[in-house]
Amino acid sequence: MPSSDAPFKPAPGARLFPMGARAGLAVCVLLVAVAGLVLFWFDPRQYHFYPVCFFHKATGLLCPGCGALRGFHELLHGQLAAAFRLNPMLVVSLPFLLWFGVRYGLQAARNQPASPALRPAWLWLILTAVLVVSVLRNLPGTPFALLRP
Ligand SMILES: [Zn+2]
Repeated sequence: MPSSDAPFKPAPGARLFPMGARAGLAVCVLLVAVAGLVLFWFDPRQYHFYPVCFFHKATGLLCPGCGALRGFHELLHGQLAAAFRLNPMLVVSLPFLLWFGVRYGLQAARNQPASPALRPAWLWLILTAVLVVSVLRNLPGTPFALLRP
């Protein structure tokens, strides 16, 4: 039985992009660039074609992603503090997400199989942090209001 601390290994022959690594990478980069341009030009507070948060709409509670679109918009305009106020978890996790994206991109560009090599302990830590922040941002009171958009 494999150790629970062993990094995740994809099945042999598994490919990140079935159409070819470089084509898949180009599609991802293009999609991210287009999404970034749309988010840069169209403020989610003024344009309503962006997806709504179904969790917030159904429950009235904030999910971990609430405020992330507005936060990305602020980040794209260089407003780090405003982005942090809208979704602190987004700003804190962005360097890690960029690191993963660049790492996957490099693996794809080199035609290497996808290997997240993220230990289960890290996954549990991330999940716990997301859950804790999600609960805290929904609690009443002044200190918790800092976590709300
Ligand atoms: Zn939400």
